[in-house]
Amino acid sequence: MTPIPDFARRRAELTPDRLAFEEIATGRRATFAEVDAATTRIAAVLRARGLADGARVAVLCLNTARFFEILFAAARTGAILVPLNWRQTPAELIPILDDCGAGLLIHDAATAELAAALGPVARLSFTELEVEMAAAAPEAPTGALPGWPADRVWYLLYTSGTTGKPKAVIQTAGMALANAVNIAQATQLRETDVTLNVLPLFHTAGINLHALPVFLWGAASLVMPRFDVDATVRLIADGRLTLFFGVPALYQAIALHADFDRLDVSRLRHWGCGGAPLPEPLIRLFLDRGARVCNGMGMTETGPTVFLMDPEQAPNRIGSVGKPQVLAEVRIVGPDGADLPDGSVGELLFRGPAVTPGYFGNQPATEAAFAPGGWLRSGDVGRRDADGYYYIVSRIKEMYISGGENVYPAEVEAVLDAHPAVLEAAVVGVPDARWGEVGHAVIRLRPGASLDAEALRAHARARLAAYKVPKYVTVVEDYPRTAAGKVQKHLLARSLAPETA
Ligand code: ATP
Ligand code: MG
Repeated sequence: MTPIPDFARRRAELTPDRLAFEEIATGRRATFAEVDAATTRIAAVLRARGLADGARVAVLCLNTARFFEILFAAARTGAILVPLNWRQTPAELIPILDDCGAGLLIHDAATAELAAALGPVARLSFTELEVEMAAAAPEAPTGALPGWPADRVWYLLYTSGTTGKPKAVIQTAGMALANAVNIAQATQLRETDVTLNVLPLFHTAGINLHALPVFLWGAASLVMPRFDVDATVRLIADGRLTLFFGVPALYQAIALHADFDRLDVSRLRHWGCGGAPLPEPLIRLFLDRGARVCNGMGMTETGPTVFLMDPEQAPNRIGSVGKPQVLAEVRIVGPDGADLPDGSVGELLFRGPAVTPGYFGNQPATEAAFAPGGWLRSGDVGRRDADGYYYIVSRIKEMYISGGENVYPAEVEAVLDAHPAVLEAAVVGVPDARWGEVGHAVIRLRPGASLDAEALRAHARARLAAYKVPKYVTVVEDYPRTAAGKVQKHLLARSLAPETA
């Protein structure tokens, strides 16, 4: 198969002097030509250290432009990059380093202490890398580079770990290209666009939304080391950003910010959100200010974007994740694997060039994940309406059965979210002697609000069938969450009082 042209070199040839990355914290700016030059030097360092052709290189760092240069250097040399989650402990990271067989761990200053605690793996700090880059003897940047084989393993991304142990999802250049086409098409990307890179680089969103598509299209990313709500609100107010992608937890933090009521959102032309259910009251707060937040859905396994709402339709179709992206195919099937008609709830299956070939070094998990014909089983159930818009109903693992009826927690949560005292609701199924399972609602309150459990149950009873009304209500400060802010329901269920959980 013809290789994919080297993204960094092509951009350096096409738009050498345009801004590729700007770091908010350090002020460091890198043009496309500078990114390509640094990539060339890092590639020389990796080769000199014998870390090309399938060697695994782990990276532990906050968001930075340097990360993307390392990522492109890996693509150029055939090394497999493994971004690690800096919020994890050594006990969690050491098995991952073992699992992927990392030959080198590159880390920044902020993660130096954590990196030092990770056992015998060879380590290279950013500062040392810069010294080696300066000393490297890179090949002269003339002539065409070999390009990136479309199907070669480029980097590994661990899933969020929302439902259990994270899995290492293979990412290829072919997937990145397909995802870039999907994103560029959905956001009408152009060279003058400026996005914010703030979601962590060890998750699919940090790399694939929007950074790689934006880079390939010649647009700029402003890189924030980690999410800082004040800095984010300031940047939005500044008017430089034209695109924004966040997870619901980020939108929630922005909406609670003291300056939110005065925030001018008019320059920012595309707002994307995904990764977890987006509560209706939250999306309305942004719509009321003229920010047409587009809910989207995807998975680490799908590159990630499968669905993204069309901005024109966003205000009229709250709750929907839109239609499939141009290069994504979707089916909804029943337990027997047969396609279901519009309106029926079934498992979502995905296929397309942005879908992963599988889990790294885990053939059994890969085989279990795919249905015949190359269709990825998402583990999510959803439905399509008569106009072709899709709705995510629940994760299969979160669904519970009460008195023989399926309950989808997201549907119950949407009703509880609409109660004025509720900031966020999470519902889990807990064992019950009479009904098999019943709902336990775990509530975060709005600042200053108080809640009467009976009143909340009455609010739910007026809007939902009786078997969906949670039997128990508990108020908490916050939930156990992943780094991307997703609620880990299995941990939440375990933390509830023993008589109900
Ligand atoms: P793990 O697979 O390790 O349990 P995870 O599934 O959360 O973690 P990701 O790949 O980051 O890991 O997330 C993909 C999942 O996120 C989807 O399968 C879906 O359940 C959920 N999701 C993504 N976008 C949305 C959305 N807009 N609405 C509801 N759920 C969403
Ligand atoms: Mg998953």
